[in-house]
Amino acid sequence: MSEVKTLLITGVSSGFGRALAQLALSRGYRVIGTVRSAAAKHDFVQLHADNACALELDVTDFTALDAAIAGIEASQGPIDVLVNNAGYGHEGIMEESSLEEMRRQFDVNVFGAVAMTKALLPFMRERRRGHILNITSMGGFITLPGISYYCGSKFALQGISETLSQELAPFNIHVTAVMPGSFRTDWAGRSMVRSTRSISDYDALFDPIRQAREAKSGRQLGDPAKAACAMLDIIESASPPTQLLLGSDALGLVRNKLAAMQAEIDRWETLTRSTDG
Ligand code: NAP
Repeated sequence: MSEVKTLLITGVSSGFGRALAQLALSRGYRVIGTVRSAAAKHDFVQLHADNACALELDVTDFTALDAAIAGIEASQGPIDVLVNNAGYGHEGIMEESSLEEMRRQFDVNVFGAVAMTKALLPFMRERRRGHILNITSMGGFITLPGISYYCGSKFALQGISETLSQELAPFNIHVTAVMPGSFRTDWAGRSMVRSTRSISDYDALFDPIRQAREAKSGRQLGDPAKAACAMLDIIESASPPTQLLLGSDALGLVRNKLAAMQAEIDRWETLTRSTDG
């Protein structure tokens, strides 16, 4: 690494954010991590005497974000890389899940990431350099019954991320949507919000899915430390990808969906073409 880079990572108390922060610190980066409690703040700064800095911030505290980013830029220097990692999974059959639960899911996973990005962009654009990583999910491309709000939020961030990469390319600012498969973080454990069941018609479809996710929590295929290695690889790349899948599960499921989409597009091609003219 030619110069010390500063990373701002949202949600460093556990999971991907924590793993990436630890690896980056071990490789000489400065890491500013957001947390949501004084205890987590105290815990994070213990990771490195000089280079670990913690900021108490909920990404849905929208009115506070501009000042928070400007404050970091003024007191700590330029933020080279923003990792929009903070997020959680809502699990629930759509008909059983409230609109309020949907709003919260989108506030954190979509609006939070966008608001953080908007607060930082004037600084990155001025410098004509930067890299933004949006941690989306394989659920930003494939879907499964029972996580419609989550997939909707990740599809949204995926679309925003891809569009943004085109808007920011002229300014030498890279944008990468990182799409993990299933990893051993707190995602399906303490962090998950599960709607209460109320409609027995869905029992046969959904009960096995909920039970399987609970049983698998903590034993998923993916290792967050290895995901952190992959993320640092793209942070250090001169030409990072617009999207990056992480994990063989994500790879297989996305490839299957692409093939199914291709087949469906081909099957309906005549009707699709029929509306021209
Ligand atoms: P995690 O261990 O539960 O970590 C989530 C982090 O986000 C925690 O630090 C949490 O802070 C923080 N956070 C949640 N809501 C927040 C808010 N409103 N404001 C600020 N911080 C907030 O789970 P994870 O798997 O590492 O999740 C990180 C990202 O990866 C999420 O966007 C998730 O959707 C995505 N992802 C995970 C998987 C997977 O299998 N694990 C797969 C694909 C994508 P607190 O400790 O304060 O709650």
